[in-house]
Amino acid sequence: MKFKLEYIWLDGYEPVPNLRSKTKIVDFETEPTLDQLPLWNFDGSSTRQADGSSSDCFLQPVALFPDPARNRGHLVMCEVLLPDGTPHPSNNRAAIADDPDAWFGFEQEYFLYKDGSPLGFPKEGFPAPQGEYYTGVGFKNVGDIARQIVDEHIDLCIEAGIAIEGVNAEVAKGQWEFQIFGKGAKRAADELWIARYLMLRLCERYGVDVNFHPKPLGVDVDWNGSGLHTNFSTKHLREIGGEEYFAALMSAFSEARDEHIACYGPENDLRLTGLHETAAIDDFTYGIADRGASIRIPHSFVNSGHRGYLEDRRPNSMADPYRITGRILQTIESVTAQALIEDAFAA
Ligand code: ADP
Ligand code: MN
Ligand code: MN
Ligand code: MN
Repeated sequence: MKFKLEYIWLDGYEPVPNLRSKTKIVDFETEPTLDQLPLWNFDGSSTRQADGSSSDCFLQPVALFPDPARNRGHLVMCEVLLPDGTPHPSNNRAAIADDPDAWFGFEQEYFLYKDGSPLGFPKEGFPAPQGEYYTGVGFKNVGDIARQIVDEHIDLCIEAGIAIEGVNAEVAKGQWEFQIFGKGAKRAADELWIARYLMLRLCERYGVDVNFHPKPLGVDVDWNGSGLHTNFSTKHLREIGGEEYFAALMSAFSEARDEHIACYGPENDLRLTGLHETAAIDDFTYGIADRGASIRIPHSFVNSGHRGYLEDRRPNSMADPYRITGRILQTIESVTAQALIEDAFAA
């Protein structure tokens, strides 16, 4: 039986990679599993990943999803390798820490664009100011085709086995959000990349582009930017937690502020001004239910004895989720390591 395998990878563009993909038709007797999928290659000189003189890069399948839009189709998330089999420098996935018990929930905000402006914007100027668009209903607020796109995307994600947890219309006209939950730093980010891929591919049919820029309308007008709030928890945070551990964690986050910002998406200074949505880029704050803080602590976290999950509001819509989850885990693990050292001295 012929299967259509869509090999998907991230290219070498800076500061953020683009999704690329190509189809491989392969014969299998039954539905293939990940370990049966062959290595493949592509022309890295066309994706800013190699010189023309030695252009081959390799695609190593790392996650497999049914492709809901294709008969006998699969979506194959890949890592890019050099010809000697080591990770390509652009391969952020290979470089990050991982922990299957670290859970992540991404809130992906984005704009739908047509002919160079957000859906529902008039040819000249701006629509009515922000206010009624967030979670809005009715043609004047959400237009005609956006909801259809958003609904189809939900079904595509569900059928691909991706834990999409919800969607909502956002604060700006033409702006939307979907939420993806995943377990493991690599796996959760794989699922977000595939959810982005499905949205981009779906929108081709509508002549609509997905704009992931964090501040697509610029800073001179009063229109919201797009974030990628990242909710996270580890086994320790969910089951043990406690005020003292929480304080140690926040102090580690504070110390590593710049390292986090470096992983949270380019041009974040346009969005993290301190005026909207989160704290300023050179600040680090946290607070209960505080949507103006860098890290928001849900009420449920405090009520359960400082146990549960936290929301880092700083990552932006364009960020590479591998770098976000990897960095969050690295900071968390530095606290665990410190606690172990202290315990060893106390013993
Ligand atoms: P907001 O109120 O900030 O808009 P959302 O409802 O959009 O919140 O998103 C909440 C996110 O938190 C979801 O992506 C969900 O998957 C995530 N989440 C819930 N529980 C956990 C947990 N224990 N660990 C990590 N993420 C979680
Ligand atoms: Mn949300
Ligand atoms: Mn939102
Ligand atoms: Mn949020």
